[in-house]
Amino acid sequence: MTILSKLKKWAFKRSLWVFHLNTGSCNGCDIEILDLFTPRHDVERFGIKLVGSPRHADVLVVTGPITGKSLERVKRVYEQMPEPKFVVEVGTCGSTGGLFQGSYNTLGSADKLLPVDAYVIGCPPRPEAIIDAFAKLMEKIEKGG
Ligand code: SF4
Repeated sequence: MTILSKLKKWAFKRSLWVFHLNTGSCNGCDIEILDLFTPRHDVERFGIKLVGSPRHADVLVVTGPITGKSLERVKRVYEQMPEPKFVVEVGTCGSTGGLFQGSYNTLGSADKLLPVDAYVIGCPPRPEAIIDAFAKLMEKIEKGG
C-alpha cells in the first residue's frame, strides 16, 4: 500500500459524514442519535458529522424497521450516496423488526434491503453503544472494509 493510499484511508475513517434516516422508528432511537452530537458525547471530535444530504454522506444510519411507506425512499437515499458507503443499523427494530414485527405495514429488518455493516442492539440503544459501533466501523475501514 502506498503512503498516499494509507493517508487517504486514515483521513477517511476520521471524517465519517453521516446521513440519518428514520425508516419507521418510534423516534426513541433517533433521540439517542441526536444525543451523540450534544456536548456530553460530542462525536464530532472523532470526525463524525451529521449531513443534510445523502450525496455528502459516507455512512447511512438507519433507525426502525423498513415499512411499506419508507421502502422506495430508503432505496433512493442509498443509491444517492457516493462510494465507498457504509450502513449502521441502530435499534432492535431495525435489526429484527422488534416490536413492529408482524405489523401489516412492516417489511422487517433493514438488512433485507441494505448491506448493513454494523448493528446496534437495544431499545433504544445507549449512545455509548452507538459510538462503539462507529469505532468498529472505523476498524473495518482500516482493515480494508
Ligand atoms: S428499538 Fe425501541 S426505541 Fe428504537 S425504534 Fe424500536 S421501539 Fe423505538
